[in-house]
Amino acid sequence: MKTCDICGIKSHESGDDPFMFGQWKSLSNVTVHYFCLLLSTKLPQRGDDSVGILGFLLTDIRKEIAQARHRKCEYCSKMGANVSCHKCGDLFHMPCAVTNRCTIEFCGNFISYCDTCRPLDDYKTQILKNPPKKQSCVICFETIHSCYLHCVSYGDCCRLGFAHMMCMRKYAMSSGYYLRCPWCRNSKFRDLIRLQSIFVPDRDAAWELEPNAYRDLHRSVFRCDQEECICPKGRQFTNKTWSILMCKFCTVSGVHSKCLVGTQGVDKISDIPKDFKCTICVQIIKSRAENLETSLYIRKNGPKSSEGAAIDSQEPVFSDDNCVDPGTSNQEFISLTSTSLPSNTSSLPPPPQSDKDKERLWIQKSFNVRGEPFLYLVVYKTDGPKCLGTCTYRFHEDDPRISDKSFEALELIEVSEEDIWFYHDDCHYWEENKHLDSCQQ
Ligand SMILES: [Zn+2]
Ligand SMILES: [Zn+2]
Ligand SMILES: [Zn+2]
Ligand SMILES: [Zn+2]
Ligand SMILES: [Zn+2]
Ligand SMILES: [Zn+2]
Ligand SMILES: [Zn+2]
Ligand SMILES: [Zn+2]
Repeated sequence: MKTCDICGIKSHESGDDPFMFGQWKSLSNVTVHYFCLLLSTKLPQRGDDSVGILGFLLTDIRKEIAQARHRKCEYCSKMGANVSCHKCGDLFHMPCAVTNRCTIEFCGNFISYCDTCRPLDDYKTQILKNPPKKQSCVICFETIHSCYLHCVSYGDCCRLGFAHMMCMRKYAMSSGYYLRCPWCRNSKFRDLIRLQSIFVPDRDAAWELEPNAYRDLHRSVFRCDQEECICPKGRQFTNKTWSILMCKFCTVSGVHSKCLVGTQGVDKISDIPKDFKCTICVQIIKSRAENLETSLYIRKNGPKSSEGAAIDSQEPVFSDDNCVDPGTSNQEFISLTSTSLPSNTSSLPPPPQSDKDKERLWIQKSFNVRGEPFLYLVVYKTDGPKCLGTCTYRFHEDDPRISDKSFEALELIEVSEEDIWFYHDDCHYWEENKHLDSCQQ
């Protein structure tokens, strides 16, 4: 039997699920849930992985243990609460937060929200009001009986379906670096899903470290994702001659072995490798080899000192405006704009007049996301007098192009395909001024 020294919850009291609470970690006479380290609101991570328990210093952990003894959990009324709601300050045990309806962000500052304070965007509100019916889980294929917001997860990249929360936890844990959206195969999913209380390890797929671990945790939808699929019966057809290989790394990208011939160095059927790696995973492997990362675990930003919780100026901005901004309605994380960092919004530009206008960027706004070293720039995309929508670009803080963050300077920078983070295409404001007016109020 194990007891977590921080939250005080024992392994036999349901505190023993590594997918929900993290693995047990011990050093000297201290034993804790890994997620209690990550999610304890006042516990900073001040060292690198080789120091203390995965960068959490024993002195800081002991201090947290002592302080948690005086904090009562709102859910179970026992002492040992180590997580506080980022908005109202209510206190919970980490396991109570995970098993109740709290929303946890497994990235940046690792902040949590209680069920009344959790940030809701239009999509979440819609699920909450009308829980979708007759959904089946993309991972286990079973029916999702209660499609309530707190028991399902989805890809915010495409919103094409749902998965059981638990299935997603296992899937994310087992895929690590190679995690991709099981619906649209987008790799941005890896960052987005962390905002839905899902822990994604920064490491190789678990089965690569321990062969066969989690192998049966999820099945995949067999589908040929080759750019040109030559199967006459379509991408999802499979039989003996049209067998589909699934990518060894992400397990969501597939290919008919016949469609592979003539691409990726495969000249004939007999050259087809047993271990198929999709092109995106090959890219990930390459870039990882280039920037050798040795850390197996993810980094926590803040609180900056063990004295205080997350810094006040990083309070997320909650909009109580029902009208959704055209540039942000699809992306929940944008509502987390940090007010302490440079962020400004231009007034809406007039339609471009001259050729010179066409060359510069019509910036809607710029923003930062708490805990991320990036500047996002939302730019109107135009076609003559028509606005096609917005394109959001992302630049690393160190990028010399954004050293001057004034709009005058940003308007003139050169952007490339690689800077594109996502498109948002349902804005036509020069044509539909009514909509614009209602947005501005
Ligand atoms: Zn614990
Ligand atoms: Zn509790
Ligand atoms: Zn709250
Ligand atoms: Zn499932
Ligand atoms: Zn997706
Ligand atoms: Zn095919
Ligand atoms: Zn792959
Ligand atoms: Zn509007």
